[in-house]
Amino acid sequence: MSQHGFAYLSQNTFLKAPPGDAARPFAVAGIPFDGAVTNRPGARFAPDAIRRASHMLCDGTHPLFDVAPLDWLTDVGDLVAPNTALEAAREALQPQIAALLGRHHLCWLGGDHSVTLALLRAYRARLGQPLALVHFDAHCDTWVDHFGEPSGHGTWTYEAIQEGLVIPEATVQIGIRSAGVRKAREYVNDVGGRVFTARELRGRESPEQLAGVIDEIRRRVAAAGNAPVYLTLDIDCLDPAFAPGTGTPEPGGMTTAQVLTLLEELHDLPWVGMDCVEVAPPYDHAELTSNAAATFVWTYLSGVIAARRQQP
Ligand code: MN
Ligand code: MN
Repeated sequence: MSQHGFAYLSQNTFLKAPPGDAARPFAVAGIPFDGAVTNRPGARFAPDAIRRASHMLCDGTHPLFDVAPLDWLTDVGDLVAPNTALEAAREALQPQIAALLGRHHLCWLGGDHSVTLALLRAYRARLGQPLALVHFDAHCDTWVDHFGEPSGHGTWTYEAIQEGLVIPEATVQIGIRSAGVRKAREYVNDVGGRVFTARELRGRESPEQLAGVIDEIRRRVAAAGNAPVYLTLDIDCLDPAFAPGTGTPEPGGMTTAQVLTLLEELHDLPWVGMDCVEVAPPYDHAELTSNAAATFVWTYLSGVIAARRQQP
């Protein structure tokens, strides 16, 4: 660890990783767009806050996986997009995302959840096949319109399935609990996927208690021919007690430990990338939310690197 491990850095990168090193296999990139939120704005400030929170992780050596992602990681900074119309933003993001996918395994820091559709379009194009999807959220994000507009931060899952970006049977939602009509709430179940509601997960936190969830995700990915898996982590999957800093908080949600158990136990899936979205620093307290987000991204990175090192 460097001598001044907690020093406030003017150059803010995730885990203090070197910036913009195209030779490193893993990268963090920010997408500071929050033009599609429905309630409280502010997720545009999240990449900076999550990076800052990650500095608390010091050298980043993970106690479970015993790897330090810093050795493999670069931070490529933030993508540039107008914080105006959603379609204009996605158009601006698309070539930047595609270029980075050619160089790194990425962890994207949102931004609101509308950015995930642009990301999935880019992965689908690059990989030439639809993806399996693990989606943590309080919201189903399968509404067919965004309060009269065709797309928003609550429509992308519906759009991704309609566009063939993800495999419906290998789409799993975890933590869902918001108000919503049955058609939206049950959409993923209705097309053959699986929705684990927050109610179903109450009181289940250990690997043993969550074995049913873990096994079902593994089974669905295997049944899809071990398709590449994408993780999208809407921080509002957490109860507001653990993540108050978000635009659409929904009480009665998951614990940080519950999400960590799932990420740890599933670390050896064929992951191809992740995003963590909807952190809204203006409503955060004691940096609870950005700390949780930084820990999730670090755990994902450590788990993926550990799994790949164990392969022959
Ligand atoms: Mn969402
Ligand atoms: Mn949400």
